[in-house]
Amino acid sequence: MNNIKKISCFGAGYVGGPTMAVFASKHPQIQFTIYDIDKQQIEKWQQSETLPVFESGLSLLLEETRNKNLSFTSDINEALDEVDIIFLAVNTPIKQSLSKKESYCFDIKYIEACTRSIAEYFDLKKLNRIVTLVEKSTVPVLTSKHIYEILQENQKIYKQYIYGILFKNTRSAINDLLNPERVIIGGGNSPEEQNSTNMLKELYEKWVNKDKIILTNLVSSELSKLVSNSFLAQRVSSINSITALCEATGANIEEVKKCIASDSRIGSKFLNCSVGFGGSCFKKDVLGLAYICESRGLTEVADYWKQVVKMNEYQKSRFSKLIIEKMYNNLDDKIITIFGVSYKKNTNDCRDSASITVASELLKEGAVLHIYDPLAKFESMKKEMQRQEIWKDCYDAKIKFFDDGESASINSHAIVILTEWDDFKQCKYERMFKKMKRPSFIFDGRNLLNREEIEQIGYAYVKLG
Ligand code: NAD
Repeated sequence: MNNIKKISCFGAGYVGGPTMAVFASKHPQIQFTIYDIDKQQIEKWQQSETLPVFESGLSLLLEETRNKNLSFTSDINEALDEVDIIFLAVNTPIKQSLSKKESYCFDIKYIEACTRSIAEYFDLKKLNRIVTLVEKSTVPVLTSKHIYEILQENQKIYKQYIYGILFKNTRSAINDLLNPERVIIGGGNSPEEQNSTNMLKELYEKWVNKDKIILTNLVSSELSKLVSNSFLAQRVSSINSITALCEATGANIEEVKKCIASDSRIGSKFLNCSVGFGGSCFKKDVLGLAYICESRGLTEVADYWKQVVKMNEYQKSRFSKLIIEKMYNNLDDKIITIFGVSYKKNTNDCRDSASITVASELLKEGAVLHIYDPLAKFESMKKEMQRQEIWKDCYDAKIKFFDDGESASINSHAIVILTEWDDFKQCKYERMFKKMKRPSFIFDGRNLLNREEIEQIGYAYVKLG
């Protein structure tokens, strides 16, 4: 295989770690090195008990590969020595200074920083060979051009080529990586660039069918990532907007969904209503798309996409208000049990989780929160609330995490389901009811439970649509 001996990845986060673990399991003859500037993050990856990312199947892959052909380091020299391909999987958050305004742009300072350190390393070592650089981070369109300019500025003496790659991202990360619906590789037309494209293509062909690998130019691949996620987010916002209309008219969202999903042009995928989408990608990618439109003078197009995010904010706030109103506008010192803080099931990732927004609204009303999430922990919730600048010191005493739903619900006035974990369908709601305060509410932000069964127990059951 094109004599690839070593692949390194900058960024040991939710994307870098699982991606390299899958690659390493598929290519035992290649050495994979994951580098991060955060030493603590690297230490966590080095031991099974402290992994910073929980994704089903990840531990097994790491057992297979770690200390064999997969290593973690915070030493940049170790990452770049003899490397053939470098993946950039560093974070590209929404720019903080703009986060309070209506339009947003990506902060590419981490991409710039690692590109500069890569360029410096190769300048210093006077290396003259081709290294392929892969953009795995989500970036504004034309970042590839900017990266190229930085490398030129540093008078680098090696050639580099950049690619954007993306996967279907709807189930679990490992499952998506092992069974991608498609892999997109963006590249240039020169013989060297095509050689790099082929190298990447061959890497994937070890486990991905040729037909699923789509080759495009660089800009198209960068834009595709934003557009794919924006279309998915738009679908969630569309169905969520209809839940509000169902509640206002007496229609039933499940029936409406069944009717529209039977139209094969619409289909049934991504049509579950919810308290709102979350995660590090959807909001950021939609706003990133809107920002590019705005910067090109396409105001109407930008406004169209921004509405997808506005609808999502509306849904979160609508659901919080519904809880407060149904509980007679008095949550003062009432215990509310929250089921789920991660943004979707089977992950501990709390970034931009709709649950955190709702939890914060309930805390503002004086509620005490008992939380059960199969994977996410207090520290991740606190970190995310601090990032969003909605954390208050008094919350340390107002939020308590539990190991199971039943213990969490004792003495609470309401259970609020905010993540679609399968666990929450199996809970013993009848037993829990006996130890809760009256009236006992269940607010189902994922429409997971069966209304008849829950109401028969005695709960006041409120769901979407
Ligand atoms: P993350 O925050 O979990 O991890 C990023 C890591 O990069 C952090 O550990 C950070 O310390 C590290 N880092 C920052 N600057 C660095 C530097 N100069 N050198 C080395 N390490 C550095 O982020 P994530 O969820 O893993 O996402 C990473 C990127 O991937 C984001 O841009 C995200 O939008 C994108 N993404 C891409 C896809 C895809 O399929 N292409 C899918 C999801 C997310």
